Amino acid sequence: MAVRPWNFSPGPSAIPETVLQQAAAEMLDWHGCGMSVMEMSHRGREFTQICSEAESDLRELLGISQDYAVMFMQGGASAENAIVPMNLLGRTPSHKADFVLTGIWSVKSQQECERYGDAQIVASSGLATVIDGHYQAPYTWVPPSHTWQVRKDASYLHLCSNETIGGVETMDWPDMAALGAPGVPLVVDASSHFLSRPMDVEKTGMIFAGAQKNAGPAGVTIVIVRRDLIGHALPICPSAFDYAKVAAEKSMFNTPPTYAIYIAGLVFKWLKQQGGLVEMEQLNMAKAQALYGHFDQSGFYKLPVERSARSRMNVPFFLADPSLDAAFLQGAAARGLMQLKGHKSVGGMRASIYNAMPLEGVMALIDYLKDFERSHG
Ligand SMILES: *Cc1c(COP(=O)(O)O)cnc(C)c1O
Repeated sequence: MAVRPWNFSPGPSAIPETVLQQAAAEMLDWHGCGMSVMEMSHRGREFTQICSEAESDLRELLGISQDYAVMFMQGGASAENAIVPMNLLGRTPSHKADFVLTGIWSVKSQQECERYGDAQIVASSGLATVIDGHYQAPYTWVPPSHTWQVRKDASYLHLCSNETIGGVETMDWPDMAALGAPGVPLVVDASSHFLSRPMDVEKTGMIFAGAQKNAGPAGVTIVIVRRDLIGHALPICPSAFDYAKVAAEKSMFNTPPTYAIYIAGLVFKWLKQQGGLVEMEQLNMAKAQALYGHFDQSGFYKLPVERSARSRMNVPFFLADPSLDAAFLQGAAARGLMQLKGHKSVGGMRASIYNAMPLEGVMALIDYLKDFERSHG
């Protein structure tokens, strides 16, 4: 097989090559049963095993206790923007939810929630500011948690812990008691850094993540919910999106995205083989340090995000002279460095360096950054 390029896509994104190879080898015949995983009944013995192993491997990786339900759902993180309020707003009579805005994804979550209840912004980085003498554009920083004005009677507080487009990561998840709202569950959209490091599940009421960033292919959304929060769905909530029904049926209320669950399950096994999430975090820190470290000593490239909020997963950067953008991307592709174009709302470049990107791929990007600067600087 030809050498595969380094894929810096923000999502759907690179999947570990050994996972793809195993899926290819098992494509026509899974474990001697004579069927592809795509062709199996979701209620049959084989798929039941695939799905329950995926769940138990995920529980082991993140240390998820039985106090939490783990569900494999559909509709992506965007559907969860509606599914979460439809399931959780009914916990309190006033149907209130609070939001911290740190970028495009949390803004979308807040806007979607407004269709179902009182969606209040309790902190936002949507204005420019100055931090440590540096100008910070909107959504390039995280408002410090002591400034979040969470309502004590809110049904939940929503946080997007890694803003994929802006490249803004909230490393420390707040303790809700310290915010003066001990009874308010924290809801985290962790889509784009899910499984990149250990996560303190117990600090949250729920975590959701679309798989296609860091956990597998598009089509499955991983939803982890504390069981005491389940059972308050609004009457308008579709049955297939009611956590009580989906959890009771172990993700089999209706046909789940079977093939996507299978591939995500192989990724979970791959993560365990790598040594788990502590090991992944070490690797992800080494990759991020190498890349940010290179940018920091170059005047040719510029980083928009405030230092303490820099994402380890998504690294937006600009060429000081944007007229060179097209040449930069062309030269990168010629070297097998793919999908580096930034999101249209931010411009410039973005390197997404999820779990499946080895340090070697980041070093190949750094070599190119140096060579391009040398020839165009
Ligand atoms: C990609 C992404 C979404 C949207 O995911 P879809 O699967 O396209 O609905 C939401 N939140 C975050 C943080 C994302 O990275």
